[in-house]
Amino acid sequence: MAQPIMAEGREALPVEALRVIESGELEQADAHEILIWTIKNFHPRLALSASFGGPEGMALLHMMHTIEKSARVFVIDTGRLPQETHDLIDRVRDRFDKAVEVVFPDTSHVQELVRERGMNLFYESRENRQLCCHTRKVVPLRKYLTNFDAYVTGLRRDQNANRRATRKIEVDRSNGGLIKVNPIADWSHEQVMAYIRANDVPISRLHAKGYPSVGCAPCSRAVRPDEHERAGRWWWENDDIKECGLHITTEEDGSGI
Ligand code: SF4
Repeated sequence: MAQPIMAEGREALPVEALRVIESGELEQADAHEILIWTIKNFHPRLALSASFGGPEGMALLHMMHTIEKSARVFVIDTGRLPQETHDLIDRVRDRFDKAVEVVFPDTSHVQELVRERGMNLFYESRENRQLCCHTRKVVPLRKYLTNFDAYVTGLRRDQNANRRATRKIEVDRSNGGLIKVNPIADWSHEQVMAYIRANDVPISRLHAKGYPSVGCAPCSRAVRPDEHERAGRWWWENDDIKECGLHITTEEDGSGI
């Protein structure tokens, strides 16, 4: 029998929802079916977590909006995002009449970070890069997620080695035991782009300039046609696991959490 999953300040999640998650019966469902189930069970204590730097989040935003006009979406503004990402946030506001929830890191934490390690610390070592991601992304995400019982992400299994075992619905214990929903975990990049084109969904203008995946400005570059879609993220770190810590559940390899 499913045990209630509770984080501090969070009420017990619906028993039926927990049963469905534990049984894995929705793992074969398609993205639309999963979103309908998720919205029915968790809205409005549910939000899409979108970076506005990848087409996945924009496809999901469109899908969720189609199902429920007041579906919520938030983005973490690290303070180093490119102008094109800010432009896209406003384009989404205009197109969907949606008040995107913009989340910022704690000013004093960022101040301390750059005072001690410099403005461009991330280029100097992997440890510095992970510390920057931790301060600017992971900590504000954890804090903001206390507002929700569930959140939706655009993770796909073929994005990198660390995401190959991603389930469509899972319990995110590293962020307080809320439900993490990954409706397009089994989609390819081509499927995402086909959805974007079919529904005329707004995406970052940087994609057309060779950036399949856009993060912070100093940590993203365009990729060559023969490179992996995430090759332009922290390109100076050459291994298969490139994460900011947002989606890492254990403290492996100094993940930044
Ligand atoms: Fe810092 Fe780069 Fe991580 Fe952004 S992506 S938080 S600038 S290390």
